[in-house]
Amino acid sequence: AAEAAATSVFRRDSAIDVDAMERRIVLMGELDQAIECGQIEVHYQPKLSIAEDRISSVEALVRWRHPTRGMIRPDIFIPLAEQADRISALTCFVIDRTMRDLARWQLEGFDLTAAINISATLVAEPSFVEAVDALLGRQLVPPESLTFEVTESATLAEPERAATILRGYRDRGIGVSMDDYGTGQSSLSYLRQLPLTELKIDRSFVQHAHLNRPDELMVQSTIALAHDLGLKVVAEGVEDEGCLAFLRSAGCDMAQGYLVSRPVPALVISELLGQREVA
Ligand code: C2E
Ligand code: MG
Ligand code: MG
Ligand code: MG
Repeated sequence: AAEAAATSVFRRDSAIDVDAMERRIVLMGELDQAIECGQIEVHYQPKLSIAEDRISSVEALVRWRHPTRGMIRPDIFIPLAEQADRISALTCFVIDRTMRDLARWQLEGFDLTAAINISATLVAEPSFVEAVDALLGRQLVPPESLTFEVTESATLAEPERAATILRGYRDRGIGVSMDDYGTGQSSLSYLRQLPLTELKIDRSFVQHAHLNRPDELMVQSTIALAHDLGLKVVAEGVEDEGCLAFLRSAGCDMAQGYLVSRPVPALVISELLGQREVA
């Protein structure tokens, strides 16, 4: 009877929500298998060092190649992995894959680092540090060539706790980057309390910065303040030459976006690095 009542509550809300919920629950159950069966892929998007005009880093972006649903975007399944308590396993998989690919690129002679996105739920998780230590222990790449990208939401709930955990990663040599900066509530002065090495300006500010004055000012002042705090600045979502030219004149350190490259499989990164080398 209780079950029937619960169902009727959902039905009254809307039939579409029930479908979406069912789909999510099915996907949640399939996640474990997905990792084991090799359906999870890691693609990489380059970060262009503007002054050096070279790809100096790549960001790992996870994809789920589902056997019947096609490619599922991380925006869909990362929240599911968080809810299903699988985000630690998934992130360890991504770090492991990234370390192996990065080790190969470094062996090939490329001066390259890599960034991995770390969910807010993991930033608050002291035990994840141990998992990271186990991965670092294999010494595939130096910790200094890795950066963890975190979002403001990861640090706002319990700033001191987050700062302590992030400090632990910094002490190990791993860089810490604030992702999607500008979309949250925090000020740069708040960010000063966090042990950051890099700031990524959200693409919603970057995309029109060369076209309208308010966005231009926002990006310019963010770059200036971030540099005062000793942080490298990355601009996300750079899609055209005009935008890149503006960022260069504004003194931005790195550019990332479709202009440089979309996220691509590891093999394509090798080709891109090779092409740039001879160019
Ligand atoms: P993010 O870390 O901010 O990554 C940037 C997103 O913007 C990526 O979407 C990327 O494909 C897209 N993007 C890059 N350049 C451009 C551009 O020039 N124009 C436009 N319109 N979009 C661009 P993606 O790969 O779908 O990832 C979405 C989000 O999912 C990421 O946002 C990140 O928060 C999360 N994510 C991805 N991989 C992982 C992971 O391994 N772990 C965790 N926890 N989150 C991940
Ligand atoms: Mg990111
Ligand atoms: Mg981002
Ligand atoms: Mg963003």
